[in-house]
Amino acid sequence: MSEVSQSDVQRAEKGFVSLVGAGPGDPDLLTVKGARIIQQADVVVYDRLVSKDILALANENAEMIYVGKKLDFHFVPQDKINQLLVDKAKEGKHVARLKGGDPFIFGRGGEELEELAENGVRFEVVPGITAAAGATAYAGIPLTHRSHAQSVQFITGHLQKDGQQIEWPSLAQSNNTLVFYMGLKQCPVITENLMKHGLSPDISCAIIEKGTRAEQRVFTGTLSELPSLAEQAISPALIVVGSVTSLHEKLDWFKLQ
Ligand code: SAH
Repeated sequence: MSEVSQSDVQRAEKGFVSLVGAGPGDPDLLTVKGARIIQQADVVVYDRLVSKDILALANENAEMIYVGKKLDFHFVPQDKINQLLVDKAKEGKHVARLKGGDPFIFGRGGEELEELAENGVRFEVVPGITAAAGATAYAGIPLTHRSHAQSVQFITGHLQKDGQQIEWPSLAQSNNTLVFYMGLKQCPVITENLMKHGLSPDISCAIIEKGTRAEQRVFTGTLSELPSLAEQAISPALIVVGSVTSLHEKLDWFKLQ
């Protein structure tokens, strides 16, 4: 093996990707481990939902690469992001791949890691506070409560035309809390299906917009009102369906601060 290719191999061995969950918005909700990695990384690859305060933690010499995505508008296609991570790691860089919330919850973190694994790139995963946990906590909505909900489900509202269908009958249970990610546009479809499968039109619901950020807004109403509430809200927003949302008014500590 020539000297050049040997050093290439050594550099590639040093290359490493940390897939880091950056939390739902409030920079203080980043984990201590996530913060340490951002400070140390040579390259930071980040999404639209990662806050500026978190990016400001990066080393001043770090290469900052924005690959943000919006619904229906992919700034950088997923396969290019995957390739970028592989390439930077193979250059021997420590890459921090930052994602809003938790990387394994509707974050396509699994897909990126599969690509790294197939290319022999080493990686680690640092979980983050997912929007369903962060935004509801700041809205004073406990996801479970002995008097209201014995289970909670996280569902994507971004329904693929040819993809797997949602199993509505398993969702429409009165003692179950439902949290829809990316569901604003699909609110009429969500509402219609939940009612069709037996959920009461009077069950309470909430939409949490920009959860955990200073601009957080919470809209509450009943299931039948959900589509009109969704028209007032802007992204990123979570839809929460279930009687736990009725506790918002009593437990809204964030607004009181
Ligand atoms: N991996 C992320 C989710 C990415 S999908 C996580 O674990 O939180 C993007 C969706 O997450 C948005 O459409 C919205 O439904 C939700 N979301 C992310 N941040 C949010 C926030 N601060 N407030 C409300 N919803 C949020």
